[in-house]
Amino acid sequence: MSLIEKTATELLALQASGQATAADIADAFLAAIKQRDPKVKAFLLVNEADVRQQAEAIDAKRKSGAKLGKLAGVPVAVKDVLCTKGVRTTCSSKMLEHFIPPYDAHVVERLKAEDAVLIGKTNMDEFAMGSSTENSAYQQTTNPWDTTRIPGGSSGGSAACVAACEAPVSLGTDTGGSIRQPAALCGIVGVKPTYGRVSRYGLIAFASSLDQVGPFAHDVTDAALMMEVIAGHDTRDSTSVDQSVPEYTKTLNTPVKNLRIGIPKEFFDDGLDPEVGKIIEASLKQYEALGAKRVPISLPIGSKFAVAVYYIVATAECSSNLARFDGMHYGHRTKQKTDLIATYSKTRGEGFGKEVQRRIMLGTYALSSGYADQYYHKALKVRRLIKNEFDAAFSQCDVILGPTSPTPAFKLGEKTDNPLAMYLSDIYTISCNLVGIAGMSIPCGFTAGGLPVGLQLLSPAFDEDRMLRIARMYEAATDWHTKRPVV
Ligand code: GLN
Repeated sequence: MSLIEKTATELLALQASGQATAADIADAFLAAIKQRDPKVKAFLLVNEADVRQQAEAIDAKRKSGAKLGKLAGVPVAVKDVLCTKGVRTTCSSKMLEHFIPPYDAHVVERLKAEDAVLIGKTNMDEFAMGSSTENSAYQQTTNPWDTTRIPGGSSGGSAACVAACEAPVSLGTDTGGSIRQPAALCGIVGVKPTYGRVSRYGLIAFASSLDQVGPFAHDVTDAALMMEVIAGHDTRDSTSVDQSVPEYTKTLNTPVKNLRIGIPKEFFDDGLDPEVGKIIEASLKQYEALGAKRVPISLPIGSKFAVAVYYIVATAECSSNLARFDGMHYGHRTKQKTDLIATYSKTRGEGFGKEVQRRIMLGTYALSSGYADQYYHKALKVRRLIKNEFDAAFSQCDVILGPTSPTPAFKLGEKTDNPLAMYLSDIYTISCNLVGIAGMSIPCGFTAGGLPVGLQLLSPAFDEDRMLRIARMYEAATDWHTKRPVV
């Protein structure tokens, strides 16, 4: 197995035993990017000289005998929605084409503190709005398993670069499924932490009550390691929760006894692709073989209304978050400056793509006087009902299992003219964000056409520890996580 196919944990071991240096590792991944990224197009920015310099600094630190961080010499790719000091951060938008943040996001600081090598910034749907990475203003990322298909979104670049072995691990963000869905479609692991578990400081906001940062990895062990690094309290994010972070990697291999897996009947209704359904059913059987008990549950309100509630709450929040991009403070400003209002509207018309404009309009409408009660306030009430429904479900089971996405990766362009069809691809992932709980996707099989399928685990808030152990139980009994595509 070549270096690029290794997990972060394996790369750490190779360095510790002197079989590879951080520079060797950086060179191997840079070469993979050169060779593969023209097809995959996961990266918006890779600064080779800087990557080498970071790796050499880690090697020098190792030589000096200084204590090394948990990710020493491990290349990590970062979604372009996270601020990186002195490094262009665009959100895949024309609006931020020339934006160079003067500070690092909290999670980027954490990666640096643990001696990771930041390998580059990854492509995404503009401002994280989308499910296919087709809303990027810059390029189209493809699925490494079939480059005529989408990688999922909005963190498509971060998922595709790990699947394609252009980076061993990466960071994405998940507002309605943007880590779990691309992880599923690219055949890797993706974790959406509990709301408040990871600081959002320096994450360019889409919908502040839903956004969370989380990792992509080849396997659960690497995902747990990344969680140890990025989770934890930060006073700069008022929603960050002051609760100690367990050492996830320490408990990971202890199976959960008397495991009760909740199976929501609505997750297996008409909308589910039958082939995906079969693969999910086989993975549930695997859990039973490991001693788990199935608990049939029902989530009728979420299953019926979560997509509608999400597309009111998320658009309302994005309409106010994106108001700051007015051409006055930073970001794009139109060349056709006339009066103030015309400058605002031309700037925003030129800087934002179609989907972002659509969402700002939807959200502004949902919040406008006369309609706020009918839409926004009503959506908040239904959001509460969905939360109650999940609380009741978790009184009967330890984890909720089901498909991450109703279909495998679809063709490029297949849903671009039908936003509603695109929105429906989030049907299983969205409730998790509305309710604020943790979720993840793990690889659980392939379709006859060779496309990966993901199994979603949903767990009570701040229970990542147990969720990761449950995921690891399945992984230890299967080998889906060891597969790599031919790119
Ligand atoms: N696909 C969803 C959307 O378009 C979720 C995006 C996300 O999680 N950032 O809003």
